[in-house]
Amino acid sequence: MIDVDVLVVGGGTAGFGAAVAAGRKGRSVLLLEASAKIGGAMAFCPGMPWGAAFPAGVSIGGIMEELTERLSSMSPPAAETRPCTLENFGPEIQYDHELATLTMFQMLEEAGVDVRLNAAAISPVMDGRRIAAVDCFDRRGPFQVRAKIVLDCSGDGDISAKAGVPYRLGDDRGNMMGVSLTFHMLDADWDKVFAEEDPYFQRYAAKGIADGRLHPDLVKIYLMRGFYKDTVFCNSVVIRNVDGTDPADISRGTQEGRRRCLQLAEFLRSDVPGFENARMAYLGPTVGVRETRKLEGQYRITGEDLRKATRFPDGIVCCDNPIDDVMRADSTMIHDAIVEPGAYYTIPFRALVPKDIPNLMFAGRIVSADPVAFASVRGMPQCMAMGQAIGTAAAMALDGNCVVQALDPDQLVSALSVDGVRGLGDAALVSAGKS
Ligand SMILES: Cc1cc2nc3c(=O)[nH]c(=O)nc-3n(C[C@H](O)[C@H](O)[C@H](O)COP(=O)(O)OP(=O)(O)OC[C@H]3O[C@@H](n4cnc5c(N)ncnc54)[C@H](O)[C@@H]3O)c2cc1C
Repeated sequence: MIDVDVLVVGGGTAGFGAAVAAGRKGRSVLLLEASAKIGGAMAFCPGMPWGAAFPAGVSIGGIMEELTERLSSMSPPAAETRPCTLENFGPEIQYDHELATLTMFQMLEEAGVDVRLNAAAISPVMDGRRIAAVDCFDRRGPFQVRAKIVLDCSGDGDISAKAGVPYRLGDDRGNMMGVSLTFHMLDADWDKVFAEEDPYFQRYAAKGIADGRLHPDLVKIYLMRGFYKDTVFCNSVVIRNVDGTDPADISRGTQEGRRRCLQLAEFLRSDVPGFENARMAYLGPTVGVRETRKLEGQYRITGEDLRKATRFPDGIVCCDNPIDDVMRADSTMIHDAIVEPGAYYTIPFRALVPKDIPNLMFAGRIVSADPVAFASVRGMPQCMAMGQAIGTAAAMALDGNCVVQALDPDQLVSALSVDGVRGLGDAALVSAGKS
């Protein structure tokens, strides 16, 4: 039995933000991560840029900005902001993946967080509507964590679902976005590769598919410059109809992804100028899962809220990301803008709070959102900021000895603003601290 103030389930970008925030407020925090690495989708797709960190061209601030600044102030710099080559997306942050992982772990250590890798939360032990403890498992066997507050940042929401929080899988018909396996090509020639103006290399893709050398879902081969010169990040292979909550499906999808990545690497070398001497590296250890459960919160964000550029009074992070919807069932990719250029919306705290479990909150891709809103809010910077919000809220609830549903949103918004999150409450998202 381990007793803590706050249990964070999952060490992806949301769990990282949540644990650092709660730890910095002086609370004892245990972070359980089922895999061998911090980062979640960031670790499973190494080299994936942090997108959506600059709504209306200004940093969202908070822990996301601090992490970026720690990396970019290294010598040589380990992070850099670059324009995205895709239409409707704002700038994105590229970084050295290993140094970013190291720095995130350091920030967790500095915040006093007890991090356990290869340790999974299995199921909640309920006392009425309250989570009294969580049954967990690591290689030494089962153990139990008794936490005053549980923060579900697991991407899939197993603990919340088992505690009785209603949820929907994927869109309203149960279709989830495709999963992806990513890799890099090293020793590519950037000048030759990116002489191609189409970021999706569609004329090459069409030939590869027509020849039977590429899978038909590779109609768009998205290639982007990696952090280091002459490296190319390939976030191109998407596998449809994989249920990210099913380990057998994940295993099948990962092996299928490996086959398609190898096919693509061979095709790039033989057919696309600039890859003649390149080689494949950093193949993800498992597929990155974009979407599974979306939990039901006190409020469900809708595409309509986003289109109106709604700034909620309890907004905890700004965002202007387009609808980034990837290959659900038989649909393709959608990258349509959701707000006018220069406009942005906020994600309300109520979308992270269940209706009736007094000591549970959730953050990241399990946010309470309809399919359209979800496709916009799911970027890593926003997931980290959602985590920062519930970590801060957990400390406030413990300080005030209240249930999470009774928290004062104004007080939370003020606390987040003091901690550097920009554009909340009455504050405009202005360029004063632009980075
Ligand atoms: C292929 C792909 C491409 C993407 N491209 C971009 C991009 O370019 N830019 C961008 O900003 N965003 C991108 N995204 C979106 C973004 O990466 C995710 O939405 C975000 O990382 C989700 O963060 P999270 O912390 O909510 O969940 P996850 O990253 O899924 O992390 C959840 C973590 O919880 C752990 N976990 C799960 N269950 C348990 C349990 N029971 N006990 C303990 N641990 C558990 C998992 O192992 C995992 O580490 C992409 C996503 C994918 C998959």
